[in-house]
Amino acid sequence: MSKIGNYVVSLQESAMTSCPDCEGDGRVEVEYAVPHNFNRDVGYLDTRMEDCETCSGYGEVELEEEATGGNNGY
Ligand SMILES: [Zn+2]
Repeated sequence: MSKIGNYVVSLQESAMTSCPDCEGDGRVEVEYAVPHNFNRDVGYLDTRMEDCETCSGYGEVELEEEATGGNNGY
């Protein structure tokens, strides 16, 4: 009954997926405003790497069941 085997495998594979926000990196580049200080007359925008909030830095997120789809035949 290979159908059952394939079904189980697909379930395991679809349980986790690469995070769409950080593309599996676990970290994202965020912009933040740097206020002016004694070295600079004006504030500016800089970027830094932070843990991705979507996946908490794991780089993977759990797929929601409805997002897996493709099981209409049952
Ligand atoms: Zn992420």
